[in-house]
Amino acid sequence: MDTDSFVLPVLGIVEETADACSVQLGLTPEAEGHFDYRPGQFLTVAVPSDQTGLAARCYSLSSSPVEDGPLTVTVKRTVDGYASNWICDILKPGDTIRVLPPSGIFTPADLNHDLLLFAGGSGVTPIISIARTALASGSGRIVVFYANRDESSVIFAQEWARLSAEHPDRLVVVHWLESVQGLPTQEQLKAFAAHFTTYDAFCCGPAPFMKSVSLALRELEFPRERRHQEKFVSLGGNPFGDVEELQKAEATLADADDHEDDDKPALSGPVRLEVELDGQSYEFDDYSGKEPILEFLESKGVDAPFSCREGNCSACACMLLEGEVRMKHNEVLDDTDLADGIRLACQSVPLTEKLRITYNG
Ligand SMILES: Cc1cc2nc3c(=O)[nH]c(=O)nc-3n(C[C@H](O)[C@H](O)[C@H](O)COP(=O)(O)OP(=O)(O)OC[C@H]3O[C@@H](n4cnc5c(N)ncnc54)[C@H](O)[C@@H]3O)c2cc1C
Repeated sequence: MDTDSFVLPVLGIVEETADACSVQLGLTPEAEGHFDYRPGQFLTVAVPSDQTGLAARCYSLSSSPVEDGPLTVTVKRTVDGYASNWICDILKPGDTIRVLPPSGIFTPADLNHDLLLFAGGSGVTPIISIARTALASGSGRIVVFYANRDESSVIFAQEWARLSAEHPDRLVVVHWLESVQGLPTQEQLKAFAAHFTTYDAFCCGPAPFMKSVSLALRELEFPRERRHQEKFVSLGGNPFGDVEELQKAEATLADADDHEDDDKPALSGPVRLEVELDGQSYEFDDYSGKEPILEFLESKGVDAPFSCREGNCSACACMLLEGEVRMKHNEVLDDTDLADGIRLACQSVPLTEKLRITYNG
């Protein structure tokens, strides 16, 4: 069992729509101080399974860190999905659930900046957390484009109405219903976003929606640093398992991967690794470079962030300041992320004899 997960009590389950519910979690004394979060971040939840022991899934926090009220994630049923239906059907107040602390990089750097927020379906979860937090503690204007199948599938409909009424000078929410207007096209999204080209854009929703938004924003020449997106995918692995067991299992895979890379220049000696994390600096001269950066840091007792360990989420994202790495797998970072130097520590092995990375910012 890893030491980073916490068992939290379920305080309440709120039915948001026919196929979405919010799970309110309490903090135990051991968990206090480990669940501070930024709007847009997610928790990783361990859903019990008689087939696999557990199924790990990420759920974005819909609550706001600056408002009173419990830590809350909002889950929409996936058709035939295991974990989402278990949460909506089986989990109940008074139960407990194991979770990893908040992580993720889908969060505004400046809550005072104007924000252009795109959500599709359950993608509204991190979006409402960002909006609530910016309204409560920032000063910019916020424009939300929220796409849904029909009126009955709009999550937080009343909350959006309440927020809009409370902040008429700062918040505009546009509901787009597929049942009325059809799916929003790239041209329509572009025409909408064209009025807000100085805003910081955040997008979360189904893959085709995110693709259309991303292309629209690129056409409008939103710079990379003002375009952010969060992909909702299911984790296949188990970040809750014993790290050493995982490492043994992964070592076998790494051996296979090493052969695939026989054409890459071999590193002749140990790698020097310099790391900035949570205001601290670490320097290591004995990194063999065989295992990913995350595993090496864990073996040194460094509390580096992670969740899926599979390159499927961005919890372990770090910035490469010097050197180069190869990522074994990457489902989340796009070309512009890579050009900006962002890498997934759980998948990165060194290609150079010196690496300098930072988890700050
Ligand atoms: C960063 C991030 C944030 C996210 N935030 C949200 C959010 O806020 N809200 C939200 O709704 N979703 C969110 N998601 C998506 C969420 O993590 C899940 O992908 C989604 O809920 C679908 O999971 P599911 O298990 O229901 O469906 P699937 O992943 O489609 O489930 C089917 C899978 O479960 C397996 N399975 C079937 N039965 C069992 C069993 N008994 N035991 C074990 N496995 C079994 C099947 O083999 C199959 O692979 C987020 C994802 C990410 C990466």
